Amino acid sequence: MVQTRSRPYRPCSPVTTIPERPAATVSPFLDLPPLSAADFAAIEDQVAALLHTEADVIVTQGEALLPLEAAIRSAAHPGSTALNIVTGPYGQTFGNWLRDCGAEVVDLAVPFDSAVTAEQVAAALREHPAIDFVSLVHAEAATGNTNPVAGIAAAVREHGALLMLDAVASVAAEPLLTDAWGIDLCVIGGQKAMGGPAGVSAVSVSERAWERIAANPAAPRRSYLSLLDWKERWTDAGRAVLPHAPAQLEMLALGACLDRISTDGLPAVIARHRAAASATRAGVRALGTLTPFVLRDEDAAPVATTLRTPPGLHAAELAARLDPALPVQPGGGALAAEMLRVNHYGAAATLPTVRACLTALAEATGADAGPALAAAEAAWQTGHSPE
Ligand SMILES: *Cc1c(COP(=O)(O)O)cnc(C)c1O
Repeated sequence: MVQTRSRPYRPCSPVTTIPERPAATVSPFLDLPPLSAADFAAIEDQVAALLHTEADVIVTQGEALLPLEAAIRSAAHPGSTALNIVTGPYGQTFGNWLRDCGAEVVDLAVPFDSAVTAEQVAAALREHPAIDFVSLVHAEAATGNTNPVAGIAAAVREHGALLMLDAVASVAAEPLLTDAWGIDLCVIGGQKAMGGPAGVSAVSVSERAWERIAANPAAPRRSYLSLLDWKERWTDAGRAVLPHAPAQLEMLALGACLDRISTDGLPAVIARHRAAASATRAGVRALGTLTPFVLRDEDAAPVATTLRTPPGLHAAELAARLDPALPVQPGGGALAAEMLRVNHYGAAATLPTVRACLTALAEATGADAGPALAAAEAAWQTGHSPE
């Protein structure tokens, strides 16, 4: 395809000057001392504490899709059978990688406005005894649902399969008990409830998972996707020398957001997200013009609230009526027309942000904001008290 460019493309023109950005303040990010192996290891230990795990944690140098793909390619192979639980778009992505690895894939899909149950998972495992790997998304920011991981993990453990959990949208927004639940590969990213960077991510790897990955001849080696390379060159080598230069700025930001979670207290951060979700749902119900997309409160993710737009009103059209500074966006993919997503994670998990979103949604749909704000405030108070 021929690309049209707004400026003529000159292939080999030598760069003589770098244009200055207006009002650029670059100094805090430059000339930093290198991130030491000890700093890197300390950040991994912080992540392990956040995940409530004593398993190995690798802080991966890329967005969370890197450890998700690495975990799947490390565990899956021709001859293996995977149960892929699809409760939103990420589940679909995992299915494609699993098939690409030559695994037999059993898809267990549920409507995106609900959650999968432990009983459904147990039934699928009984029906397909060969299943040796299960991929599951904890919370899906794109669809706004969250799955009951504890019960699902118990069923998977009883069956003897490995469990990979995508906890990018649940970490710091809701309880995540990696070891107690029995999650073998737990993947997180910093960019949602942690309020941190998107450029680094992490995966915890259980002893069972390491054994299975080491026995998989198809597991990536000498590759950016290789968990085994990290184990060999970093974790098992005593974390003394980094295998290559880390993404320093993202690592510093990850460390900073972990410090902040530690200062605020994880239960308080989780309570803030839960309160933001219940206040948004209560407020939207009081509006009357929009409805929560996820039907049952217990299936609704604390990280983001998805909304169904009124018939005849396209979500993109509704979103265009809102202040672009608000954390509201139209849904993606097949749900683009009928779904609006209110993100209330990180710095947006506050009552003022929830109020601002509800006020704007009231205005844009011709509803009265008063009852919605009152309902949101009442739900915020109830939802905010830490358990
Ligand atoms: C947000 C998210 C990710 C990371 O994807 P980005 O779109 O790059 O932020 C991965 N998995 C789930 C379930 C997510 O919600």
